[in-house]
Amino acid sequence: MRIYDISMEIRNDMMVYKNQEKRRPWLEQTRKIQEEGVNESTLHINLHTGTHMDAKWHVIEHGSTIEEIDLYKCITPCKVLDFTHLDDCITKEELLKKNIKKDDFILLKTKNSYSDEFNFEFVYVNREGAEYLQETGIKGVGIDSLGIERNQPGHQTHNTLLSKGIIILEGLRLKDIEEGEYFLCALPLKIKGGDGSPVRACLIKF
Ligand SMILES: [Zn+2]
Repeated sequence: MRIYDISMEIRNDMMVYKNQEKRRPWLEQTRKIQEEGVNESTLHINLHTGTHMDAKWHVIEHGSTIEEIDLYKCITPCKVLDFTHLDDCITKEELLKKNIKKDDFILLKTKNSYSDEFNFEFVYVNREGAEYLQETGIKGVGIDSLGIERNQPGHQTHNTLLSKGIIILEGLRLKDIEEGEYFLCALPLKIKGGDGSPVRACLIKF
């Protein structure tokens, strides 16, 4: 069995969405071993930092929150699909070239995985692409950008996917992962009322 870590490291100088300072995580050490015999820290973190999962409530009023996520959708077979040839967005036409089926959990590998700097022109899934995934009835979709959509009015891609209960993972690191079939484990923290949660995402090859 081989385990591939596809998560970002959480640290103060990591890539954050649109390079906004308010989104930077901050680890504060509150007890020191030299003084109190233990080290203890508090992590101040936006729930959409680094590798994370979105809850419906992120974009849908009265949508369910992260502690309600179905764990069978977080620990599941998955397919990594290579879209590293694209510069702008993943369209329905491009998705149609891959053999995507009902109940698949797909991870979209793009050029985003090759940079640790926030790119304002990151590769994303456009509205028609999201509608195709929704119609296909997939279980979940992950991407290697901090957003699955880019500047879309009304958050169309998020809405299209989340309204049908399709899991969204963002901020994956897939540079070292080849296209193919794997087992995915990406569990959100059980944060009551959370609109998302960081996850430690990994792929397993048996
Ligand atoms: Zn998010």
